[in-house]
Amino acid sequence: HQSRYEVSCAFVQSSDFDGVLLCFQDVTQEKQVGQLRRDFVANVSHELRTPLTALMGFVETLQGPAKHDADARDRFLAIMASEAGRMNRLVGDLLSLSRVESEERMRPRTSVDIGGLLRSTMQNLASLAEDACVTMVCEISEAPVMIPADADQMIQVFSNLIENAVKYGGKGSTVTARLTEVERDPTLRQPVVRLDVQDTGAGIDPVHIPRLTERFYRIDSHRSREMGGTGLGLAIVKHIISRHRGRLKIDSQLGEGSTFSVVLPKG
Ligand code: ADP
Repeated sequence: HQSRYEVSCAFVQSSDFDGVLLCFQDVTQEKQVGQLRRDFVANVSHELRTPLTALMGFVETLQGPAKHDADARDRFLAIMASEAGRMNRLVGDLLSLSRVESEERMRPRTSVDIGGLLRSTMQNLASLAEDACVTMVCEISEAPVMIPADADQMIQVFSNLIENAVKYGGKGSTVTARLTEVERDPTLRQPVVRLDVQDTGAGIDPVHIPRLTERFYRIDSHRSREMGGTGLGLAIVKHIISRHRGRLKIDSQLGEGSTFSVVLPKG
C-alpha cells in the first residue's frame, strides 16, 4: 500500500530566521476510507442492477411478444418473483449490516442462553436442511449456557453460518453444531463459549479464507447467486461478533469440509 501525504510549503521570515516550513500530513487513511466507500457503492449498485435488468426485460416481454402467452407468463412471473426476492434479501442484508455497524461500540449487557438460541435456530432450519438432503447434528447440552449477548443478533449469526454450511455442504453432507465451554481462550485470555458449525462439503482453498468476511467477497459468485446468496452473510457475522468482543475462526481444507467457530466471552 502506498502512503499519501498532503504537503504544504510556506516561507518563514523573522528577524533571526529565514527559511521555509514544510508540513507533511499523512492522509493515507482518509484516502483509503474514501476508496472503500466508493467501491462499496459501486458493488451495491452492480448487485442491484443485475436482478433489476432481468425484471425490466421480463416486464417488456410480457407487455409485448408474450402478451397473450399464458404459459410464458407463468414462467416469467416465477423468475420475476425470484429476482425480486433476491433484491429484497440484498436490501434486508444491507440494512442489517448498517444497523450492526452503527451499534458496534455498544456492547450487549443482557444475559441470554445461547445454547437454547442455537437449538431453536437449528429447529427453524430443519426443513431447509431436509429440502437440501443435508443431515443436521446438534451437539448441545440441555443445560442453559448464559452469556451477555443480543439474542436477535446471535440468531442471525447462527442462521447465517448454518445456512452456509447447508448451502455449501451440498447434497448428502452433514452439518454439525457443537457448543463448548472453554476455561481460557488463548487469544481472548478469558473464559469463553465456543460454537462450531462444521460441514462435510468441498472445503475452502486457504487463499480465500482471510477475505471471506469482506462484503461481497465470494469464491464462486455464480454459485453463490444461484443459491440466493447476497455475499453479505459473513460480513454481518463478523460485525456482530466484534460487537460482542468475540472472534471468528475459519478452519478448512479442500476436500475435507469447513468449520466456522465463533468464540464469545462469558462475561
Ligand atoms: P453468500 O451469500 O455468498 O453465501 P457469505 O458472506 O455468507 O455470502 O459467504 C461468502 C462466501 O464464503 C460464499 O460465497 C462462499 O464462497 C464462502 N463460504 C461461506 N461458507 C462456506 C462453507 N461452509 N463452505 C464453503 N464455502 C463457504
